Amino acid sequence: MYLQLFGEPLLNPNVFEMIRYAKERTVYEVVMNTNATLLDENSASRVVTSGLDRIVLSFEGSSRETYEQIRRNARYESTLKNIQGFLRTKKATGSKKPFTILQTIRMKPTAREVDLFLARFEDLPVDRLFVGDFDNWANQVEAITTLQTDRNALRQAFPCADPWRGIAVCWDGRVIPCCRDFDARCTLGDLNDSTLLEIWNGVNMVELRQSHVSSIEGAFPCRQCNQTTPFASPVGIMFSALRRMVGRI
Ligand code: SF4
Repeated sequence: MYLQLFGEPLLNPNVFEMIRYAKERTVYEVVMNTNATLLDENSASRVVTSGLDRIVLSFEGSSRETYEQIRRNARYESTLKNIQGFLRTKKATGSKKPFTILQTIRMKPTAREVDLFLARFEDLPVDRLFVGDFDNWANQVEAITTLQTDRNALRQAFPCADPWRGIAVCWDGRVIPCCRDFDARCTLGDLNDSTLLEIWNGVNMVELRQSHVSSIEGAFPCRQCNQTTPFASPVGIMFSALRRMVGRI
C-alpha cells in the first residue's frame, strides 16, 4: 500500500495513524514516498516507530543548484539535514524498518549528475541508492514532459500489468486506475457509493483492462504513459530487462 498519490504524505496530519491502522489490518507492505522536506526530528521519530515497511526519500540531483531548480522552494542543505537526521534516528533505535531508499530520477536536469549522486551519497547508511527512470505522468503537463530524456521514449505501447495488480484511491474516495491520473479524469468508481471490491470487478475496471488487451494504445491515462508495468512472465521479465539494457547503452 502506497500512501501517496501525486502529493506529499507528510502533509497529512493523520498519516502515522493510517500506517498503524494498515499494519494492524495486516497489510503486507506499507510504503511512503516523501520529498523529506518535512522529515524533521519529530516526524523522523514517528516514521521509525510507526511500523512503516519502506520509505523512499526523493532527492533530485546531487548539487544544490539542480536540487533547488527541480524542488522549488525547498533548500538542499535543509532537506539533506532531514535525511541525515532520519538515518541517525533509525540507527539509534536499532530498527531495520523502514527499509530506506534514497532516490533520484534520471531526467534532463539530473542526467549528467547521476554518477555524482551515487558517489556523493554512497556512504549514507541507506538500504539502497536508486536511480529511477523518468515518469512522464501520462504527458499531461508540458513542463514535466519536456524533462524527458530520449531513452525514456522507449517505454511506450505495451499492455500494462497494473490494472490487474492494483488501483488508486483519492483523498475523497474516488477510485482511479493509478497515480498518473492525478486529476481523477478517469474515475472508476467512488468508495462513498461502492466497496473497493465492487469497483475492482466493476464495468469501468473491466473496460480499462480490455482496452489494454485489445489496443496497443489503450485509453487515458495509459495511452500516453511511459511507465507501463510488464507482466511477470519469464518472457516479460526478459523483455523488460532487455529494454532496460538497451536504454542504458
Ligand atoms: S499504463 Fe501507466 S497510467 Fe496506465 S495503469 Fe499502467 S502505469 Fe498506470
